[in-house]
Amino acid sequence: MLQCQRCLEDVAVGVRSRSRFRLVQAGEEWGDQDLDDDTYEALELEGLLDVRTLIEDEVLLSLPAIALHDQCSPPGAGADADAAKPSPFAELGRLKQGKQ
Ligand SMILES: [Zn+2]
Repeated sequence: MLQCQRCLEDVAVGVRSRSRFRLVQAGEEWGDQDLDDDTYEALELEGLLDVRTLIEDEVLLSLPAIALHDQCSPPGAGADADAAKPSPFAELGRLKQGKQ
């Protein structure tokens, strides 16, 4: 759950992420092919791999910078009020047509 940046309510954000890693022990040679092959990330390890932290980092990287509902309104502006109010641009268009 993240906060919708338009209506400020909770919005559920799905995360789907797939990553490949090559684990390199600290002090081990990385090899030149690691620098060319970008289908995986090389991770330098000191001791055991902390999978939980790794997953947490991947999830955080996958989250959108700004979370929004597909359709919602800012607080205070109800959907009905929005629909009843003509767009200022539509109004402008009408005025322009009347003058020509
Ligand atoms: Zn919203």
